[in-house]
Amino acid sequence: MKALITGAAGFIGSNLARIILDQGEQIRAIDNFNDYYDRRFKDANIAPWRDAPEVEFIEDDVNRVDLAELLDGIEVIYHLSAQAGVRASWGENFAVYTDANIMATQRLLEAALAKSRAGGKIKFVFASSSSVYGDTTDLPMREDSVLNPVSPYGVTKLASEQMCRLYHRNFGLPTVSLRFFTVYGPGQRPDMAFHRFLKAIAAGEEMRVFGDGSQSRDFTYVSDICAGMIAARKGTDGGVYNLGGGRRMALKEVIDLMTEIIGRPAKIKYLPVADGDVRHTSADMSKAERELNFKPEFNIADGLARELDWLRGVYEL
Ligand code: NAD
Repeated sequence: MKALITGAAGFIGSNLARIILDQGEQIRAIDNFNDYYDRRFKDANIAPWRDAPEVEFIEDDVNRVDLAELLDGIEVIYHLSAQAGVRASWGENFAVYTDANIMATQRLLEAALAKSRAGGKIKFVFASSSSVYGDTTDLPMREDSVLNPVSPYGVTKLASEQMCRLYHRNFGLPTVSLRFFTVYGPGQRPDMAFHRFLKAIAAGEEMRVFGDGSQSRDFTYVSDICAGMIAARKGTDGGVYNLGGGRRMALKEVIDLMTEIIGRPAKIKYLPVADGDVRHTSADMSKAERELNFKPEFNIADGLARELDWLRGVYEL
C-alpha cells in the first residue's frame, strides 16, 4: 500500500506519516510550508522521517503540482493539507481558505478520478472538521445532524466534504470524510489553545482565553485521529464519520488539569468570545465505532502530559 499524505509537515499529517511508516508502508508526502505558523515547527515535525528510504518528500503546493505525477502508484490519499484556523478565516483571508481548502480538494478529486478511469483505484480520505456542525445545542453531534457552520473555515470544510460526496455519488470515487474534533498532542499548532495554555502555565506567563472558559469541547488525541484515518480505508465509500476523543470537557476544567499536571497556577486574561467559535462540541461516535472499529485510547491527562513533554523540548520550559 502506498499512501499520499497532503499537508504532511503539519501537526496531524506529520504524526500520521510517522505512524504509517512504523507500520512498514511507503509514503509520498507533500507540503508547501505555508506561512500560517513558523516553519521551524514543520521542519522539526518531519525531521525524524523525511530522509527515510520509504519516504518521497515533495515541497510544493497541491494547487500547482502535476497531480497525475503526484498520484502515480498511490492507493490511498490522506488529504490533510488546508488553511487551518477558525478565527483567521474572516475578511480578505477567505480567498486563502477557498484556494487551500476547496480548490485543492476539487483538483485532487479530479486527479483521483482520472486515475480511476485509467484503471487505478484510490481511496480518498478527507480531513473534515467538527466545525461543519456549527453552534448547536443538539448534542452529541451526529453525522446526520443539521449542518450550519458559523465560520468561513467551517464553510470551506463543508464545501470540500460535499465535493467528496459528489465525486462518489456521480463517479463512484471511494471517498470518506472524517470530522475531527479538536485535536491535540505532540506537534500541535502554536495557534491552538492547548499549545498556548501549556506553554504559558509552564513558563509562568499570562494566557488569553476567549470566552469565560465554560465552553466545552470533545478533545481528541492525535494518534487516535491517525488510527481513525487509517481505519477509514475500510470506511463506506461516500461516507462521513465523526472522530472524537469520547469525552466532552469545559475549557476551565482542562485548564485546572493543566495546572495540576504542571504544578503551577494559570494567569488567565479573559477575552470576548471570538467570532466563529462555537459553544460546545461533542461527537456521537457510534457510527465510527460500528463501521471503523474506532475507539479512542487516550485519556486527556495522559495526552496532555505527552503534549507537555513535547513542548518542554521545543521551548526549553
Ligand atoms: P496544519 O496547518 O498543521 O497542517 C496543514 C498543512 O498543510 C500545513 O503544514 C500547510 O503548510 C499545508 N498546506 C496548506 N495548504 C497547502 C497546499 N495548497 N499545498 C500543500 N500543502 C499545503 O494543520 P493541522 O492542525 O495539522 O490540520 C490538518 C488537517 O486537519 C486540516 O485539513 C485541518 O483543517 C483538519 N482539522 C484539524 C483539526 C485540529 O484540531 N487540528 C480539527 C479539525 C480538522
